[in-house]
This record gives sequence, structure tokens and C-alpha cells, in this order.
Amino acid sequence: MVLAGPTAVGKGTVAAYVRDNFPEVWLSVSMTTRTPRPCEINGVHYHFIDDEQFERMRQVGEFLEWAVVHGRAKYGTPRAPVHETLAAGRMALLEIDLQGARQVREQIPDALFVFLAPPSWDELVRRLVGRGTESEDERDTRLDTARHELAAQPEFDVTIVNDNVQRASEELVSLIRA
Ligand code: 5GP
Repeated sequence: MVLAGPTAVGKGTVAAYVRDNFPEVWLSVSMTTRTPRPCEINGVHYHFIDDEQFERMRQVGEFLEWAVVHGRAKYGTPRAPVHETLAAGRMALLEIDLQGARQVREQIPDALFVFLAPPSWDELVRRLVGRGTESEDERDTRLDTARHELAAQPEFDVTIVNDNVQRASEELVSLIRA
């Protein structure tokens, strides 16, 4: 299952809730060249690597998908753990951006694509400003990306509104189980 949606909609929070409360679902850990935020743990939230390591992995085809997100850092899903998880009959969840979701659609067409939507645009802006982890410049870039990402909602199989993290997570897991 692929979970995508606009920046700051709470994809990361929903994915973390699923990871912590539904151990039957395996959550993919992405590689990124972005700098870790203070609360982030290497290997749990992301594998933090430098550009050289990322490029090496990309060139040998180790990514199921990869993208430059918000015009800044590179993010990619390592291919092997996804295939190993699926081969073992476990449910796999990828929390990635829209560009990545489109690549997975080509490679694993029978995956379920879920769009996590904000209750409203104003709420999305409030969440982005409220998080306070980005500079004003970066925030504007992210809002611009978010506008494009919201327009892609019809490409997805299902939309879940993130009005409440627990409720949205439970809806997501019930979809995976079904
Ligand atoms: P953040 O830097 O706030 O953790 O994430 C920024 C964006 O990158 C989010 O939209 C997130 O879904 C996306 N992202 C995280 N991991 C991956 C990945 O492996 N591939 C792609 N394409 N996007 C990712």
C-alpha cells in the first residue's frame, strides 16, 4: 500500500501511528539526503545518507522509486526490503511523495494507492506553519508543492481525510487488512 498526500497533511504521523500500533504492518524506511530533525533517529525514521551514497544506490538500481522532494533533498525506497516483506506474506506500507507513488504504480500496479487529504486547505496551511521546522522560504516551496499534490487526488484509489490521526490510521489499516 502506498500512502501519499500533500506536505504537512500528517502522512508521517499516520505512518508512525500504524508502525507503533499495528505490528502486522511493515513500514518501509526510506533513504534520504536531508539533514535529520532533532527528534529523528537514523534507521527508524529514515536512513540518513549523503549524496554520494544515494547516487551509488540509484545507479545500481537499489531503489524501487526515488525523487527529489521540494526541490531540495533526495528520497528513495530501498527495493529489496519491500520485495522480501511481500514475499513473506506481510503487509507493506510506503509513505512517499506523489512522484514516488507514480513510479510504484508502474512497478507494482496492483498496490493500493491511498491519498491522505487535509480537512481543508486552511487547515493544511495551519499545520505547516504550526510545525515550525521549516524556514519561511522552505515553507513557501512546500505550499507550492502541496497545491500540485492536492490536484493529484483523482489518481488515487482511495482518499482518507486526516481529521484525526488515530481514526485515519485505523481506516488505513482496515483497508490494508481488507
Ligand atoms: P520530510 O522531509 O518532511 O520527512 O518528507 C518530505 C516528503 O518526502 C514527504 O512528502 C514524504 O512523503 C516524502 N518521502 C519520504 N520518503 C520518501 C521516499 O522514499 N520516496 C519519495 N518519493 N518520497 C518520500
